[in-house]
Amino acid sequence: MIYLDNNATTRLSEEVLETMLPYLRDEYGNASSIQHKLGRNAKQAIEKARYQVAQLLQVQDNEIIFTSGSTEAINMVIKGIYERYRIKGKHIITCQTEHKAVLNTCEYLERQGADITYLPVGDNGQINPNELSLAIRPDTILVTLMAANNETGVLFPIEQIAHICQEKDVLFFCDATQYVGKASLDLSLCPIDILCLSAHKFHGPKGIGALYVRRKSKPIQISPLLHGGKQEHGLRGGTYPVANIVGLGKAAASASGENERIRSLRDFFEQSILRDIEEVHIHATTSPRLYNTSNVLFRHVRSAELMTKLSHVAISSGSACVSGDRDPSHVLKAMGLSDEDAFCSLRFSFSKYNTQEEIEQVINDVKETVLKIRSQSPIWQMYKAGLLE
Ligand code: PLP
Repeated sequence: MIYLDNNATTRLSEEVLETMLPYLRDEYGNASSIQHKLGRNAKQAIEKARYQVAQLLQVQDNEIIFTSGSTEAINMVIKGIYERYRIKGKHIITCQTEHKAVLNTCEYLERQGADITYLPVGDNGQINPNELSLAIRPDTILVTLMAANNETGVLFPIEQIAHICQEKDVLFFCDATQYVGKASLDLSLCPIDILCLSAHKFHGPKGIGALYVRRKSKPIQISPLLHGGKQEHGLRGGTYPVANIVGLGKAAASASGENERIRSLRDFFEQSILRDIEEVHIHATTSPRLYNTSNVLFRHVRSAELMTKLSHVAISSGSACVSGDRDPSHVLKAMGLSDEDAFCSLRFSFSKYNTQEEIEQVINDVKETVLKIRSQSPIWQMYKAGLLE
């Protein structure tokens, strides 16, 4: 299997696994049970991981809260801010191309009486910061925008967004799930108020993530999603999954990169398929993009068919979380694509484990398969005869 679905999840790195193993085997203490050594060891391991995550973001340890991942963090923040601040206002701003964890949480709150603005994007997947500025109102309590889009890799100008929100005195929550661990982010310089990350997107374990909540002179109030013990300042009760947390810490400490190598693999892939296959379009190339992501339209080749025929390549037609859907990607639709073009788009996402040989093989196989599908397709023949758009 050639694995090019790294925005869905990544392979656990060997060093992360090694760091986790003792906490799955011998060090099984409960980190909240610190009257004995096993509990204290677990607690120590957790605080080390907290430090490692804080270092990655250049923030203080006590600004990091462990969660089960980004979906939980997103739910906690959007619902928890709404509950605490709705006396001030019920207006939240987000964007049409956010992850479903954000969009579905916002839709849930809409049914509870929240007023949500979904900012549009251009055909390059980019928002207009001026539109954000204009959308902020006296009753706006939260702006929630992502750092990097999981489907297209489009990078939002999060620093500029953070400054707009700071000027207008509105909280800014950034879903940085696809960004952290791939690119560096110094939160001591960038006034993002709240941010979430997820270990499995950067070679850590699944089911663990973290939330950064800036300690301000006026503390940010978030109602907990789960009510339970006093762990994580009472924001996130529940027995600590120590091995997972240790794994997250190690993944954070090891995150850096072979970024340029991954970028050159991605660029080689894009240049080759653009050169070798007709009627190919790569989405959002005029926007700043994550260096590991390529979302490609093979005109009149349904991605479902292409994926079935390329069964030895792990790729996906969009977000893993909506792959059960038969609807076209909401991200590509928001960028103005027709249903047909959205259904013919595929996401390739690369990691440090990919090799040049793998990419060459995928380019060849994609080329052959696309040619074969098109040669048997009446729709393609009609398109070539100028009878179809
Ligand atoms: N936000 C973005 C941008 C994502 O890509 C994902 C995962 O695909 C999530 C949120 C959800 O993350 P998790 O799997 O940690 O719940």
